[in-house]
Amino acid sequence: MFKNLKEFRDYYIDHEIKIVDFKIIDLAGRWHHLTIPASRFSEKILEDGIGFDGSSYGFLTVEKSDMVFKPDLSSAFLDPFSKIPTITMIGNIYSLGDETKRFEGDPRYVAQKAEKYMKDTGIADKALFGPEFEFYILDHISFENSSNHMEVYLDSEQAQWNTNKRDIKNLGFKVGHEGGYHVDIPADINFNLRNSIMLMMEEHGVPVKYHHPEVGGPGQLEIELSFGGLVEMSDRTMLSKYIIKNEAIKHNKTVTFMPKPFVGEAGNGMHVHLQLFKDNEAIFYDEKGYSQLSKTALYAIGGILKHSPSLMAFTNPSTNSYKRLVPGYEAPVSICFATANRSSVVRIPGYAKKPDAKRFEFRPSDATCNPYLAYSALLMAMLDGIKNEIDPVKEGYGPYDVNVFDLPEEEKKKIKGLPKSLEEAAAALEKDHEFLLEGGVFDLGIIKDQIKRIREDFSKINTIPHPMEYEMYFDL
Ligand code: GLU
Ligand code: MG
Ligand code: MG
Repeated sequence: MFKNLKEFRDYYIDHEIKIVDFKIIDLAGRWHHLTIPASRFSEKILEDGIGFDGSSYGFLTVEKSDMVFKPDLSSAFLDPFSKIPTITMIGNIYSLGDETKRFEGDPRYVAQKAEKYMKDTGIADKALFGPEFEFYILDHISFENSSNHMEVYLDSEQAQWNTNKRDIKNLGFKVGHEGGYHVDIPADINFNLRNSIMLMMEEHGVPVKYHHPEVGGPGQLEIELSFGGLVEMSDRTMLSKYIIKNEAIKHNKTVTFMPKPFVGEAGNGMHVHLQLFKDNEAIFYDEKGYSQLSKTALYAIGGILKHSPSLMAFTNPSTNSYKRLVPGYEAPVSICFATANRSSVVRIPGYAKKPDAKRFEFRPSDATCNPYLAYSALLMAMLDGIKNEIDPVKEGYGPYDVNVFDLPEEEKKKIKGLPKSLEEAAAALEKDHEFLLEGGVFDLGIIKDQIKRIREDFSKINTIPHPMEYEMYFDL
């Protein structure tokens, strides 16, 4: 939003800005914030930054706890959720003691380095990312006055729908409210809320492709973004989730991006569409290629499929991620590629036929990822595939233009499956991360921190008795 301090000062006076809020990202992809009076925003803050304790940010192996962030003026936006006029900006993290040196563990720095590395390879000068956010919206959130206690209730219609499903003895007539894919109003009860979210995103520099009700009923929604660059789209991903969650709360609703929040319902994915350009040419397009894909696009797919188990440690970094990746819910489970096939890791949308629209979609990712790290890892896998000419056909990754689950057993056995747990993804990243270190893009420390963090999550969940275990084993 601002190129320099003067632009900030002019805006500050014109709009009577009172507050400046800074967002700093942690390893897990969560924004933290710190706030100052706008009158104190100065050259000194831009140059020297503001100190903070990084130890609660998950950055462990790379640095000690004292860190500094410096605000990025270009990322500033007028915060729609603060009652008092507030400018919010994202901070870049630096090492304390040498405030000119970027902190190697800063996810935003990784994304900036990845973009530079792509240009240095000469393969492409622009990578575009198009994420699709799926989430559930639930009724009623209440924060009790004095504590941090939060209660979330299911939408009353949803509760009724659940009752209908279970209580087959109740033969009284009830109107179905299953929601569903593209369902129209009045069943689409969140239409107005989605519209206000979409317009707010547009006003804050996040172009939206479209929004619609998703298949998980009722209350699963989807908002897809128009394409953007790596750092740009990572910032937009953070801002989108911020707007979606906070606007929902204003309407007395709450949102979850959790990959599998409900048993027996569709999960929440965050599929990412990918494109590379060089000198404004779409290098993924070839009229004569499979599904109009160029050799370069196929190699990029080869890189993604080869590295997909270790990519998952960044694109699917929660224990819950793996509860979504099961057959029967349009979520991917097989390491293969295909046109229009939703069970594969890489899907080539059949309808995108023009050179500039030619792309493929990485389907495993979900919104529990840190977008800077997930998008950077995807780019690094594509570049590795292109550099090493990893041919996905020769490697036996397909194309499988059938439902993989319908294939004969013999055929099915040939297709590798995705990691089934966070521990498997951590083990895969431990073995396969050389491609991420190329050009110094990922620091070994951040990879180790990620492995440590997700292993801790895995063992935490693995050592807690699961509610279902009582049903299964309590009286054995
Ligand atoms: N909700 C599905 C998933 O978990 C995807 C549905 C779709 O293809 O849009 O990935
Ligand atoms: Mg979609
Ligand atoms: Mg969808």
